[in-house]
Amino acid sequence: MADEERYHMTPEEFRRYGHALVDWVAEYWERVETFPVQSPLKPGDVRKSLPEHPPEQPEPFERVLEDLDRKILPGVTHWQSPRFFGYFPANVSGPSVLGELVSAGLGVQGMLWSTSPACTELETLILDWFQEAMGLPESFRSTSSGGGVIQDSASSAALCAVVAARERATGGRSNREGAPGNLTAYASTEAHSSVVKALGVAGVGRERLRLLPVDDSQALRVDALEDAVSRDRARGFTPFFLAATVGTTSTHAVDPLETMGGVAQREGLWFHVDGAMAGSAALCPEFRPLLAGLERADSYCFNPHKWLFTNFDCDAFYVRDRSALVSALSILPEYLRNRASLSGEVIDYRDWQIPLGRRFRALKLWFVLRSYGLTGLRAHLRRHVALARLFAGWVRESAEFELLKDPPLNLVCFRLRGEDRLSEALLERVNAEGRVFLTHTRVGDRYWLRLSVGQTHTEERHVREAWEVLTAGARALARR
Ligand code: PLP
Repeated sequence: MADEERYHMTPEEFRRYGHALVDWVAEYWERVETFPVQSPLKPGDVRKSLPEHPPEQPEPFERVLEDLDRKILPGVTHWQSPRFFGYFPANVSGPSVLGELVSAGLGVQGMLWSTSPACTELETLILDWFQEAMGLPESFRSTSSGGGVIQDSASSAALCAVVAARERATGGRSNREGAPGNLTAYASTEAHSSVVKALGVAGVGRERLRLLPVDDSQALRVDALEDAVSRDRARGFTPFFLAATVGTTSTHAVDPLETMGGVAQREGLWFHVDGAMAGSAALCPEFRPLLAGLERADSYCFNPHKWLFTNFDCDAFYVRDRSALVSALSILPEYLRNRASLSGEVIDYRDWQIPLGRRFRALKLWFVLRSYGLTGLRAHLRRHVALARLFAGWVRESAEFELLKDPPLNLVCFRLRGEDRLSEALLERVNAEGRVFLTHTRVGDRYWLRLSVGQTHTEERHVREAWEVLTAGARALARR
């Protein structure tokens, strides 16, 4: 054995530690309920517990595993806890984590079809499966004018949508010479911040995104959209991009896709629909009305890494017509030239995303889809929605709390009656206690608590516990 070989983990050691770590993850999932949901550590605590300098000499792997338990785990907020109700779910599952492991082991770079045909072809197939299983528009199929691709995040999907829109609006000029200074884009004040970021990153400018007012249900007001577009045209701007949200981050509001899509078509705007969390629900036919009008969209995304039992990162991004996207993002240096690409018979997903390299992310989706089946996935989505509705019912009947609206899916917004500071104090108290974890938002100028149901193993008893903790906290605050 060459001297430097001793630095490698041998296959035998990998097998041993790999088995130990699979056990570790399985045990973590079994005992995740015993930890305080939110890490109680203070800023700097994790770093302070670790050596300031990198190890000069190799260390036994056992020591790394010890530190995983002693130094890292206390600094983890337990997103996999069934009592995690904050932000949005990031629900992982056994099949997904095993898919990730295989992807890491294969270490494939799937930038071109030719750099690993299975990486591309499985991805195309899985995205076609979702199109079929969710009743998404036919034009999103790879066999049609459009197609789907896995992005790392909804934020990247928004950025890709903006650059494709810019490409189409400028006939490709923006890619060659830079974006013209008069482009304008539109979304509601409730759109996710990633849309604002995308316009900044794409060089259009954050302020060129007109953030339009919403109605009482927090959905974009189409009259305001029409006014803004015509005002901008009159001032010499070129409207080019419109984003809608199905299931806004704050309150799960749903923008009117049908009418927004009509405006987009009339005005020649690229219409992007962001269904980051809510989109997964389309697996269940009864929730599909939320996506009515999607056939008018130029692009659409949802995140299996939020609410489809698939670990981060995994965003499904679809376009109705792939030509603008590919034209905006394709670039072919000599070292990537190959016969398959030049034949035009294959998809090279590097042309559908910002980075060149890409992981084999379709594997984890494939494992998840085959392990759960559509029936299993639907059952869990329905269970989460039913639990959110159960909780909303308790809020509705309570004298102390008020409900923002009946939850369309798995997110409940509610507050203590009275001043905002009461709900703020309640959230702080409940999260510090560690039994459950929730987050908040603002609607207009009022503070609301959010309970987002969607962790892999959240059951009725966990939602009930959240309600008990909240009502006990409310009573304690009232006594003060
Ligand atoms: N869009 C919506 C509606 C979201 O709720 C989120 C995440 O909270 C995002 C986009 C951003 O998702 P990602 O982390 O995949 O970029």
